[in-house]
Amino acid sequence: MASIKYDHVWKRFGEVTVLKNLDLDIADGEFLVLVGPSGCGKSTALRCLAGLEEITEGRIFIGDRDVTDVPPKDRDIAMVFQSYALYPHMSVYDNMAFGLKLRRVPKAEIDRRVKEAAEMLSIGHLLDRKPKALSGGQRQRVALGRAIVRDPAVFLMDEPLSNLDAKLRVQTRAEISKLHQRLKTTFIYVTHDQTEAMTMGSRIAVMRDGILQQLDTPQNLYDHPANMFVAGFIGSPA
Ligand code: ADP
Ligand code: MG
Repeated sequence: MASIKYDHVWKRFGEVTVLKNLDLDIADGEFLVLVGPSGCGKSTALRCLAGLEEITEGRIFIGDRDVTDVPPKDRDIAMVFQSYALYPHMSVYDNMAFGLKLRRVPKAEIDRRVKEAAEMLSIGHLLDRKPKALSGGQRQRVALGRAIVRDPAVFLMDEPLSNLDAKLRVQTRAEISKLHQRLKTTFIYVTHDQTEAMTMGSRIAVMRDGILQQLDTPQNLYDHPANMFVAGFIGSPA
């Protein structure tokens, strides 16, 4: 578990400034939703935290540790994307075990963690299958499972449900919330879907054009939006 701090973070790609002085404090064990229109910089914000992008200015902390210059593999973060990127030739079990094998985790420990995560996600009966024999929802669970087995301090989820149909989205949302309650790890959940944000987040960070507009509880965002953009965005259907 760990708190997270973006401290005056700027990110530029050449001439394009994508993150503009991002200041964000996320509490240990919090479920924070980062929401905003497509292209506003949500994925970039996550990728910077994960170390997949170098920031241009500012610092990033995980707990008390300044990770600004720490390589991704040493940040104790797991990230789940909308494209599941499972290895097609590997079974579900091997997909989930792969990262642990690379880290030379002992076989018995890998087995224990994979089975525990599979049970948590109700995919215990699918461990021998190849990804192509799974539904979209099942594949997304395997992707979640692959993150869970690593037992990271921080979970980052970048629009993980956007490839699922509406019914499955609602169901999987509830499961992710349950997962958070069970793991008690810090989650940052990115979405462009207002409904998803309002139902899942204990706090919501609203971003527009690389600038954080407001960070508050769903209720306070609704009752006291900081500006017209927040009011319009929160008030409009997805
Ligand atoms: P979001 O996830 O909110 O849709 P992104 O973080 O993916 O937004 O992108 C924000 C902006 O940064 C977009 O204008 C995008 O084109 C730009 N961007 C993202 N990654 C790169 C990159 N590697 N090189 C140049 N521009 C990028
Ligand atoms: Mg994105």
